[in-house]
Amino acid sequence: MNPIEVAIVGGGPAGLMAAEVLSRAGVAVDLFDAMPSVGRKFLLAGKGGLNLTHAEGFDAFVGRFGERAAALRPLLEHLGPAQLRAWAEGLGIATFVGSSRRVFPTDMKAAPLLRAWLQRLRHPAPGGAPVRFHMRHRWQGFTGDGALRFATPQGEHAVAARAVLLALGGASWPRLGSDGAWVPWLRDAGLDVAELQPANCGFDIAGSPVHGVAEGWSAHFAQRWAGQPFKTVALRVDDGPAVRGEFVATATGIEGSLVYALSAALRERIARQGTATLWVDLLPDHTAERVQAEVAHPRGSRSLSSHLKGRLGLDGIKLALLHEGLSREAMHDAAQLARAIKALPLTLVRPRPVGEAISSAGGVRLEALDAALMARDRPGLFVAGEMLDWEAPTGGYLLTASMASGAWAGQGVLRYLRAAG
Ligand SMILES: Cc1cc2nc3c(=O)[nH]c(=O)nc-3n(C[C@H](O)[C@H](O)[C@H](O)COP(=O)(O)OP(=O)(O)OC[C@H]3O[C@@H](n4cnc5c(N)ncnc54)[C@H](O)[C@@H]3O)c2cc1C
Repeated sequence: MNPIEVAIVGGGPAGLMAAEVLSRAGVAVDLFDAMPSVGRKFLLAGKGGLNLTHAEGFDAFVGRFGERAAALRPLLEHLGPAQLRAWAEGLGIATFVGSSRRVFPTDMKAAPLLRAWLQRLRHPAPGGAPVRFHMRHRWQGFTGDGALRFATPQGEHAVAARAVLLALGGASWPRLGSDGAWVPWLRDAGLDVAELQPANCGFDIAGSPVHGVAEGWSAHFAQRWAGQPFKTVALRVDDGPAVRGEFVATATGIEGSLVYALSAALRERIARQGTATLWVDLLPDHTAERVQAEVAHPRGSRSLSSHLKGRLGLDGIKLALLHEGLSREAMHDAAQLARAIKALPLTLVRPRPVGEAISSAGGVRLEALDAALMARDRPGLFVAGEMLDWEAPTGGYLLTASMASGAWAGQGVLRYLRAAG
């Protein structure tokens, strides 16, 4: 079997960015993807506004990658937020910095960016090599002699390549193509792979003893409030820092940006202790003293709900959450009620499944790879994107790191091919 030059498997942002680096250098690239078209998750990300990257200071940006920050720093220095905005600009897509310093294309969409990108990959500038796309090619591991095994509508076939770059994504939203099926195949090939786990995910809650429910919300709460947001609250995990924002009640628990921001800490606590406690401050703009004073203010003949609405603006889903967590007696005890308004505990029992999450944690351990993202024990095999073992909150960090690692691994492939002559 004559080997092709470079096989990239996975046409998400990581694989496409690797293809761009190689194509620009004039290297022949064949890109394979299981789906009928590339970039499906990228396109979905554009549905709610494509958050390409983040405009906070570079050190803060890198810090979002937690214990992987040091390892990812050189990759993000090479292709970080500023370079990514310039790259989009080069494709004719202007970007802007939103109120939370998140960066979006001016029209918020992913489709025009992906269209322009694919056009450039297929028809590069002089000196570049056009990328050849092979859709409906599901990679299924390696043959005995190290070739790539693909299942295609025409049957199985094997492809040998001088260098292989895997950019298969994690395991969230599997219907978009990345299903994490590669984990055992790479373990069989000798790579160290941490279990894929949900990141930026929702959680199921424990039942409320007040309502005698073993798990989840009371039927009344779930029916009335699932899908509704808690606006401007603060959440805290144990004695960690409080973070402000919004989250949403689901049929079985909670999700939304504020929960995602804490999801790594919550997931780890649940793994360690069985449950995690999330403290909800329903009125973060009010001090505990103010809340105590307002709750204790004589209410005359007013009902408790109109008293809380009138004095503290507390009603709707926030009031309903208090009724979920407190007994009737506690609701009518000013001290207990005021304490709960500022710190209501929610017990979380499990993260939602990885398939529902925005992203996944775990994946190929960086320790299994050299500085160029090449497998230490398998020369010529590179790995990039979300399938690497790092995680980050939402805010443009996921796309930036996926693309940065794709570009970095692409550079690694170039050096590897040159060294091999
Ligand atoms: C709803 C949603 C919204 C998001 N919004 C944002 C956002 O606004 N900003 C942000 O930064 N991040 C966002 N993300 C996360 C971001 O989209 C991902 O982190 C990013 O797409 C990962 O890129 P990747 O190239 O590593 O993997 P993917 O984009 O998952 O691409 C992997 C590719 O590999 C292919 N593949 C998988 N297995 C095989 C196989 N066995 N054989 C052949 N091909 C295979 C898949 O078909 C796919 O095309 C969002 C995610 C979701 C689910």
